[in-house]
Amino acid sequence: MSRIQFIRNPAASSIGNNAQEFLRLLGGPACLFLEGEDDTRTRALVTLLHGNEPSGLMALFRWLKSGQRPAVNVVCIVASVVAALEPPVFSHRMLPRARDLNRCFRAPFDDAQGALAEEILEILRVHHPEAVIDIHNTSGSGPSFGVCTHMDREHDALVSLFTQRLIVSNLGLGALMDISEHSYPTVTVEVGGRLDEEAHELAYEGLCRYFKSPAVLSQGKTDWGLELLYDPIRLELCEHVTLTYSDAPSESYDITLRTDIEHHNFGSVSADTLLGWARGSERSLFTALDASGRCAVTRLVRIVDGELYPARPLKLFMITNNAAIAESDCLFYAVADDGSAICA
Ligand SMILES: [Zn+2]
Repeated sequence: MSRIQFIRNPAASSIGNNAQEFLRLLGGPACLFLEGEDDTRTRALVTLLHGNEPSGLMALFRWLKSGQRPAVNVVCIVASVVAALEPPVFSHRMLPRARDLNRCFRAPFDDAQGALAEEILEILRVHHPEAVIDIHNTSGSGPSFGVCTHMDREHDALVSLFTQRLIVSNLGLGALMDISEHSYPTVTVEVGGRLDEEAHELAYEGLCRYFKSPAVLSQGKTDWGLELLYDPIRLELCEHVTLTYSDAPSESYDITLRTDIEHHNFGSVSADTLLGWARGSERSLFTALDASGRCAVTRLVRIVDGELYPARPLKLFMITNNAAIAESDCLFYAVADDGSAICA
C-alpha cells in the first residue's frame, strides 16, 4: 500500500520538465504544502483522484514552475499517481480491480483505496482548510461544470472561479465533496475532457484564481449567475445488460446508443429525440433512483418499437460514449429541461 509522501515548498527546478516527469518523480500519492503570503490560512487542492484525468496535475505543475507564491497556504494532494503511471501514462482511472477512489471517502476504509481516502481525509482534518477544490476531467469532450452537495454562496463562489455551471447533487456515493456537509466547503470541478487543451488551460486559470485571490468564499450578495442543475438522476444499466454505440441497432447487444449521443451533453432533448435502440422493457434494461430512492427509469426513458427516447423533455449531461464507463458507472445524468429535479 502506498503512503502519502509529504513535500514542502518544492522548488521549480526539482519537479522535472513536464507533468509526466513530475508524476514520475512523485512516484506515489503526494501532499505538497505551499506556504502562502498569509500563512495563517490554508486552502486545499485535490487532484488526480482518477489517474486518467491529468488537467489538475498539469495545472499544479505549471504553477510550481512559475515560481509564484499563493495568497494563503495551499495543501495540494495528488492522489492516484500509481494508477496514472501505469502505462500508457494517464490512461487508468484506477488500477485493475481497485475501487473508484472517489467512492471511498466514507467507511469502511478497509482496502488500499479506502486507506488512501482515509489518509487524505486526515490531511484535510489536520490542515482544516477554508475551502477544498477537487479538479477532475470528464472522459469525453464536453463543457466544464462544478458539482457540490448543497448550494450556498460559498459553493457558488468556489465553482465560479472555474466555470458557470453547477450541479447540486447529494447522492451520498462516498465522493470527496460529500465531506462538505460537516467539514469545509468542498466542490468538485470537472474542467472538461481529459484530452482537451482547453480543459488543461481552464484548470490552470482556475487554479491561479484559487491560489492568488485573497478571498475565495463569497463576499456579500454577489450573484455569480451560475446555471444550476438540481438532483440529477443517474441512468444505469441493469446487471448483465450489454451495450454498444453505433448508428444503427446492433443485433449482438441489448442496447445500442447512437454514437453522437454525446452531442446532447448539457443540451435539452425533447421527448422525440432518438437516443438509440433497445430490446426489452425499460425496467429490465435500466435502473435509476431519484433522490428519495424511488425507481425513476420510466421518468427518464421510454422504448417504443425497439427505439429508445427520453420519457419527457430532459437536460442530459455526463453522457459517456464509452461502454466500459457506462457499464461500471452510468450512461448519463438527467434533470428536467429547466434544470430542476425530475419529479414523480
Ligand atoms: Zn474524475
